[in-house]
Amino acid sequence: PDPVHVIGGGLAGSEAAWQLARAGVPVVLHEMRPVRGTDAHHTDGLAELVCSNSFRSDDPNNNAVGLLHEEMRRLGSLILSAGDAARVPAGSALAVDRDDFSARVTAALEAEPLVEIRRELVDDLPPADWSSVIVATGPLTAAPLAEAIRAFTGEDSLAFFDAIAPIVHFDSVDQDIAWFQSRYDKLGPGGGDGKDYINCPLDKEQYEAFIDALLAAEKTVFKEWEANTPYFEGCMPIEVMAERGRDTLRFGPMKPVGLRDPRTERRPWAVVQLRQDNKLGTLYNIVGFQTKLKHGEQTRIFRMIPGLENAQFARLGGLHRNTFIKSPVLLDASLRLRADTRLRFAGQITGCEGYVESAAVGLLAGRFAAAERLGAEPSLPPETTALGALLGHITSGAEADSFQPMNVNFGLFPPLTEKVHKSQRKQTMAARALADLDAWIGRKEAAE
Ligand code: FAD
Repeated sequence: PDPVHVIGGGLAGSEAAWQLARAGVPVVLHEMRPVRGTDAHHTDGLAELVCSNSFRSDDPNNNAVGLLHEEMRRLGSLILSAGDAARVPAGSALAVDRDDFSARVTAALEAEPLVEIRRELVDDLPPADWSSVIVATGPLTAAPLAEAIRAFTGEDSLAFFDAIAPIVHFDSVDQDIAWFQSRYDKLGPGGGDGKDYINCPLDKEQYEAFIDALLAAEKTVFKEWEANTPYFEGCMPIEVMAERGRDTLRFGPMKPVGLRDPRTERRPWAVVQLRQDNKLGTLYNIVGFQTKLKHGEQTRIFRMIPGLENAQFARLGGLHRNTFIKSPVLLDASLRLRADTRLRFAGQITGCEGYVESAAVGLLAGRFAAAERLGAEPSLPPETTALGALLGHITSGAEADSFQPMNVNFGLFPPLTEKVHKSQRKQTMAARALADLDAWIGRKEAAE
């Protein structure tokens, strides 16, 4: 068959190329380094880890990313086998020697006869004679290609930075304190009941203590090349707003207008609002709370908010240089661009977050493209698996308007159908995932 072209030899592109070759499909892998660098990469190696050397928890029973590791191992992942081989001691986490890891991925792909590696920049939308393409150019996609994608998909559909507000698990919000109400009980475009937001009330004392905590908290600093990008304008972290004046937040994202606390029958001094973040209704984001506070500080300070004392966070806030597309509207279920189905997207550019998630979406894109090349329908992983939950979130589960990069977490999985004690829920979900994955792999093998 004609080769599939993979653009970008990072975590996602390397895994996609490997999966294609394993399925017997020829691949041309286009990687711009060393011809052109990025602000974060330092080497010419494929799958370079640009920051931490950790793939996070390796526990498949209690942790969603550990479960994703296990699912990827069962599907013959190159990133996981190289990671296992390059492992360094890190307790229950999978951490790697980054040079050894990248060298193993590079060597495996160089040795694979079906993979041709071209060191070149792809600076425009792929030519018409590339009949199947996977775009895996990552958070630092080179400018000409990013601009071309933006021009093709539309102004609002490609972002150059993320502005991540923290996300909490719905069932960890104290409903005795918080209440559902939209400002002025306004109905949404589809109608509804005027109760779209969860509201957490603060009195004057609580608000002042919260501002003091924000001002004193430890922040992460922008890297020089991040601070210089114009795209951060208009998306100010809450701690910067607090620095502008003690009441700035109370007249900004924490304004209490149009809201009445049912317990006091009065408008609170300030309000923190949470908005539904996924279709399942298991996750809520804190509206307008993008932040550069250190993660430990976020957990401590956001739990000062009445109603969030015991909040469990599915994701903490952040603000980074990050190229990603509005996948829930742009992509179909097998990661193809609806407007041009020759093109598939994979990795961080699809709006997943993290090394492992990027590689996981690369794995799926590679398998889908391989199936298509071999004349079969791509088979989607069950939504109860970590792979399926992540894929479902990106392609359809997330709310398109507030779409921001997401790590894998149990809040993305469909709830259990049986009643299970809270302490056993993650384990039960993980066991369900692996059983369903094995059945899916078995079904796929039987079909081949
Ligand atoms: P990448 O691994 O970046 O791969 C994309 C590849 O495409 C690169 O090799 C690039 O050179 C190439 N490329 C780009 N444009 C073109 C083009 N036009 N033509 C040809 N080639 C091109 N995640 C974590 O889990 N832990 C972390 O500590 C972490 N730290 C990060 C720090 C920074 C500064 C950034 C930006 C991201 C970080 N991430 C981290 C997030 C993310 O998981 C990684 O960026 C991950 O590498 C994404 O995988 P990817 O395959 O999508 O992109």
